[in-house]
Amino acid sequence: SAKRAGRNEVKDFDVELKYALLEKIELVKDLRDAIANKEFHLVFQPIVNNVGEIMKFEALIRWQHPTRGLIPPDQFIGYAEESGQIVDIGEWVILEAKMALDKLQSVYGEHIQVSVNVSPIQLSNSQSDRTKLLYDLLTGVYSEGTSGKNGLVVEITENLFMNAEDGTQQHLLNFRKHGVQVALDDFGTGYSSLSYIMNYNIDYLKIDKSFVSKLDEQSPSGALCEGMISMAHSLGILVVAEGVETQEQAALLSKYGCDYLQGYYFSKPQRLEDIIATLRSASIPSTCD
Ligand code: C2E
Ligand code: MG
Ligand code: MG
Ligand code: MG
Repeated sequence: SAKRAGRNEVKDFDVELKYALLEKIELVKDLRDAIANKEFHLVFQPIVNNVGEIMKFEALIRWQHPTRGLIPPDQFIGYAEESGQIVDIGEWVILEAKMALDKLQSVYGEHIQVSVNVSPIQLSNSQSDRTKLLYDLLTGVYSEGTSGKNGLVVEITENLFMNAEDGTQQHLLNFRKHGVQVALDDFGTGYSSLSYIMNYNIDYLKIDKSFVSKLDEQSPSGALCEGMISMAHSLGILVVAEGVETQEQAALLSKYGCDYLQGYYFSKPQRLEDIIATLRSASIPSTCD
């Protein structure tokens, strides 16, 4: 009967909820040892300028779980934020990213930047003792800022940015004073207006891939992207489009004046060793001719 089916649905829902909760508890427990066990690694995705030259790389975390296999960040960063483990993980990410920055600059040139995703939890008041360490990591001894930039870019997502505590704005200002640039990630998915963003002194706006994936000459996404780009430019903010998968999307975004492009069309995120190996093999003159 309908009644019975209804009750079963509730029961299934209950079981699913319980299962999800158990899995979460399990993952949070496993996260505790993940750094010590060297289960994390970073992959790097190139960000090119409007003539296709690599200017930056975004560092993205991966978790190689001993039994579950490779876990993407969307499946554990949220838990790590809730449990506070994101603070340790975030510091590990910055240390790794800085080592990678040195290597990437030595092969691609000093202009190369590496961007890291930073959770607002890492900047929150409850973590004030650790915020000092975060500063030292971001702005610290490795940074030789000859160009006024130390090579690191901090990416903060729009949604979390909107809910951020008042202190966040001061942190971002301080980062910029120390040569760390700031990017607003996933722009367009939240509710912030560009006039609001103006108060925040950011360097880059990253247009969310949900807009880019719908791009073609006819779609309203085109007008939206074009509008975001020209408004950002009028505020002195540079624009990165993420999730560029086709030549058509790249061409349209360039036509709209987008400054930087990132996406599978150019390259998937890769491990540092693979990026450098590919570069080396491409630059070794062939002996088979
Ligand atoms: P995000 O910062 O917006 O990063 C862009 C995501 O889009 C990455 O997913 C990237 O692999 C993916 N992507 C790049 N190009 C394309 C494309 O052409 N098509 C499609 N469909 N996707 C593309 P990923 O690596 O799974 O990361 C997901 C999110 O997890 C990131 O979104 C970021 O918010 C978060 N995340 C990643 N690494 C870290 C980290 O070290 N710390 C923190 N706090 N968050 C991180
Ligand atoms: Mg990002
Ligand atoms: Mg993004
Ligand atoms: Mg995202």
